[in-house]
Amino acid sequence: MNDKTASSDTANPLLEGPGLPRFTAFSPDQVSPALDSLLADARSALEQVTAADTPATWETVVDPLDTATERLGWAWGLVGHLNAVDDNKPLREAYNANLPRMTQFWTELGQNQALFEKYRAIRASSGFDALPASRRQVIEHALRDFRLGGAELEGPGRTRFGEIQERAAALAQKFSENVLDATNAFEFLTEDAARLDGLPPDALEAAAADAATAGKPGYRLTLQMPSYLPVMQYATDRKLRSRLYHAYGTRASLDALAPEDAEARAALDNAPVIDELLRLRDEEAKLLGYQNFGEVSLVPKMADSPAQVMAFLHDLAVKARPFAERDVAEMRQFAADELGIRDMQSWDTAFVSEKLKEARYAFSSQTVKQYFQLPRVLDGLFGLVERLFGVKVAADTAECWHPEVRFFRIERDGRAIGHFFVDPCSRASKRPGAWMDSVRSRRVLGKTVQTPVAYLVCNFSAPVGKRPSLLTHDDVTTLFHEFGHGIHHLLTRVDDLGVSGIGGVEWDAVELPSQFMENFCWEWDNVREMSAHVDTGEPLPRELFDRMLAAKNFQAGLQTLRQIEFALFDMRIHVAPEPLGADGVQRILDQVRDEVAVLRPPAYNRFQNSFSHIFGGGYAAGYYSYKWAEVLSADAYAAFEEAASAPEGADAALAATGQRFLDEILSVGGSRPAIDSFRAFRGRDPELDALLRHNGMVEAS
Ligand SMILES: [Zn+2]
Repeated sequence: MNDKTASSDTANPLLEGPGLPRFTAFSPDQVSPALDSLLADARSALEQVTAADTPATWETVVDPLDTATERLGWAWGLVGHLNAVDDNKPLREAYNANLPRMTQFWTELGQNQALFEKYRAIRASSGFDALPASRRQVIEHALRDFRLGGAELEGPGRTRFGEIQERAAALAQKFSENVLDATNAFEFLTEDAARLDGLPPDALEAAAADAATAGKPGYRLTLQMPSYLPVMQYATDRKLRSRLYHAYGTRASLDALAPEDAEARAALDNAPVIDELLRLRDEEAKLLGYQNFGEVSLVPKMADSPAQVMAFLHDLAVKARPFAERDVAEMRQFAADELGIRDMQSWDTAFVSEKLKEARYAFSSQTVKQYFQLPRVLDGLFGLVERLFGVKVAADTAECWHPEVRFFRIERDGRAIGHFFVDPCSRASKRPGAWMDSVRSRRVLGKTVQTPVAYLVCNFSAPVGKRPSLLTHDDVTTLFHEFGHGIHHLLTRVDDLGVSGIGGVEWDAVELPSQFMENFCWEWDNVREMSAHVDTGEPLPRELFDRMLAAKNFQAGLQTLRQIEFALFDMRIHVAPEPLGADGVQRILDQVRDEVAVLRPPAYNRFQNSFSHIFGGGYAAGYYSYKWAEVLSADAYAAFEEAASAPEGADAALAATGQRFLDEILSVGGSRPAIDSFRAFRGRDPELDALLRHNGMVEAS
């Protein structure tokens, strides 16, 4: 065993970061010992950089701490990745056993007062202005995060801040639990199959199976999405839809239909949770020196102020409104003419929409799927990225975690600038969904350039026999989306951790490159090139593509106004000057609906009591970011549309636009504010027109 080769084979691969992981040498029992050692190293680095006699400079504080925490993060990232793509009992146990101490370490780091002082000293030093822009940005971000974490508070304010954090976290958890319990408290039982007329066979089967599991005869409907949604979309019985709609829209409120016992209902009421959460957030904002929580939420985001966000939402609402009104008029007409519904109500809209969509734009996603073969779609995607950004994507070799995983390198001028793994298909051991994750980020230390590496994980249907994996159009869009995050990470030119790749990019701007890439899935030339029927090799028929496009934009006006309603409500309650109480929250929701909604829910509706994004998740005063990012990405893509019709020649104009997108957006990462990057690319501030046009919201000329 003292043979050198043997000892490196048996060494713990989690201690070898940040290179390409040696997946085949990994085993779950290595996790705890590796973290023992890496956490000890990180803590001793922290101690050293915060020592009184350590000079406050980039080289003596930021670099050594980054090096230690990068190795720790790399190892833990690898464990988390494997836990998501190769689930097994020993690994899950190792992950769960170590998660608390990882969380604890990051929390300690974020609250370390001595480290905060060192960063402040670097910021105040004469050397600060001479640092490269990316390093100055790293320092500014760190100081901002310390401040928002309460590091500047002293005495009772500091204690109170900690109490608020803890209580708010518990309340958010309670909010989500109440929604879950209230959702589960309701059931609708029937033995009369006629009441379920219209439901698709799989929904009917599920309802029967659900009843059997509960030891009841007939069918059982619940408020869980797979049961609730088909009822609202397909059940012909209006009374049934009305009943379930009522139950769903009053969850976790005193007016809920379940539980029947008033005391049990009160225990699940989220109104007091909302009230207390809003008070705590307001108190936190004031402790930190802001007027309200809306302002706090926007500090690390691209948007400047709550007023700017609300003006943005209003502007979009005004433009979308005529189209939403048209959508509703069309639904009412169709409901009256074709479905015999003369007074369309809230519990009818999903049903009417579904029937209208079927009548106008029906197509089968199974048919479409025959045209998108994974290898050809990947070729199309890589070819596009090569043309747009002047790079080359080539197959490469590395150790992988599964035989289906592939590995690629991205080259510029013959040199590898980044690598990525693609794990495309679903399997039992893999978590659902699709994501891009970092193996490591670009960093330059002295003369050594560390190139970025990414994981791209999807859950497409696995190949059957000799047939390749076939993708629905949604799958294709997902792949382009994740690859957009991928190129943001991989094409970076920033040299410093924390702001290279997607690091440090504002939360409401980080979806720009990903949503930007989605647009190419709706470009006919591109679709034609990457589609080939699995049996005949024919490209997707144009007529089918046009129907898909129309279906995509179906009721875009209505959908846009709904999102604006939620976003405006979210921001308004977080900038209110006084505590609102349950009545005040309801009043603001009503006002917002007066201003923007074209379909009014019934008065009993208590949507806010189950709005988990903002009360149980991380979107408080941030729900607007969905639309915000869509506007940015649509407007950025419009620059490419303009180039494609450039009078001086599309090829040259497209190449120049691609280069500018690369230079000003993809390659700068978080090294400067996203608005500066956008302006540098577009030559102006973001505008709404492109998103409206892409969603079909333009007046016919
Ligand atoms: Zn995304």
